[in-house]
Amino acid sequence: MSYNVNEKGYYGEFGGAYIPEMLYPNVEELRQQYLKITAEPEFQEEFDALLKDYVGRPTPLYFAARLSEKYNTKIYLKREDLCHTGAHKVNNTIGQILLAKRLGKTRIIAETGAGQHGVATATVCALMGLECIVYMGEIDIKRQAPNVARMKMLGAEVRPALSGSRTLKDATNEAIRDWINNPVDTYYIIGSVVGPHPYPDMVARFQSVISKEIKEQLLEKEGRENPDYVIACVGGGSNAAGAFYHFLDNPDVNIIAVEAAGLGVDSGESAATSALGKIGVIHGSKTLLMQSLDGQITEPYSISAGLDYPGVGPMHANLFATKRAEFISITDDQAMQWGLKLSQMEGLIPAIESAHAFAVLEEKKFKPSDIIVINLSGRGDKDLNTYIDYFKL
Ligand SMILES: *Cc1c(COP(=O)(O)O)cnc(C)c1O
Repeated sequence: MSYNVNEKGYYGEFGGAYIPEMLYPNVEELRQQYLKITAEPEFQEEFDALLKDYVGRPTPLYFAARLSEKYNTKIYLKREDLCHTGAHKVNNTIGQILLAKRLGKTRIIAETGAGQHGVATATVCALMGLECIVYMGEIDIKRQAPNVARMKMLGAEVRPALSGSRTLKDATNEAIRDWINNPVDTYYIIGSVVGPHPYPDMVARFQSVISKEIKEQLLEKEGRENPDYVIACVGGGSNAAGAFYHFLDNPDVNIIAVEAAGLGVDSGESAATSALGKIGVIHGSKTLLMQSLDGQITEPYSISAGLDYPGVGPMHANLFATKRAEFISITDDQAMQWGLKLSQMEGLIPAIESAHAFAVLEEKKFKPSDIIVINLSGRGDKDLNTYIDYFKL
């Protein structure tokens, strides 16, 4: 059994492309082209060169000595926090913009909630000199002023979504409407392993550089390619998909996906999709989704903007359903305490999203001989105000 996508675009029963008919030509063009283009040696060369010289890859695999001693096991951190723009998201936007260029597209659109994907998209548009329009809910524009400023400084136009709850799902609707109206010259960059096929697979492939490097780095440091555990936080699931990718079909590697419990799984203020979700369709994909009894999408909550998403990518829905991965949910308070602990034990201030993954160290018992890799998906600069308010710094 494979945990990867099949040729129809499904992971088990999850995935597919549930899209309005008007969007079919755009998605179909992408489906027909993405594997062919990304397999071309010139594409690979350009992608690898930009990951190296622009993003700063390979990111280090750092042995966390103090953390390892305290938890009496071997803990390595994959340092995606050192990527240009401060997180893993840029791995994907670089891949997609190279694809967009080869498809002859001149105009890039994206939607963003917290603004992190918007910044990663605006960054690569500036790099390539392409027009960039980022849709963002009016409420989110107010909440995420620094990222809005970054996008503007990078030359992007930030268009407010004024309908509905004026947050991420409304921005997504606006982006889809734009793409329907501009099928020829426009490419839609999606920021996680979500959306209609082929997006989840395409984004997972671009992010899979993370586990490719982990294998090479572990071989060098430990004499073996495979850790006993790989742990990552899951919002839509792209950093996790990248960290898990080359280990999916190796049952010796235990996979742990960490979701945001918010104020608690049963509090009504949570984003723990595997615990709370039912099968449904969001963003063009059949997956697990937090919804009311009559199928309305429930507003999620997490203190970390990047995990505040009511669904999860279809790869992860399948990893949950098949029990290939263990899913653990971590509260706001646990994650915030880990933000402080990692700062003071290792000198690394993590993104609050990433801090969730570390809390597993107290949820599970590991053996002294275990090799554990935690994906440190991003740095905490963007979260400083949240840390200040929480800890009264
Ligand atoms: C956006 C973000 C996430 C969540 O997105 P995934 O697609 O689940 O990886 C996690 N960590 C950081 C630092 C982020 O910026």
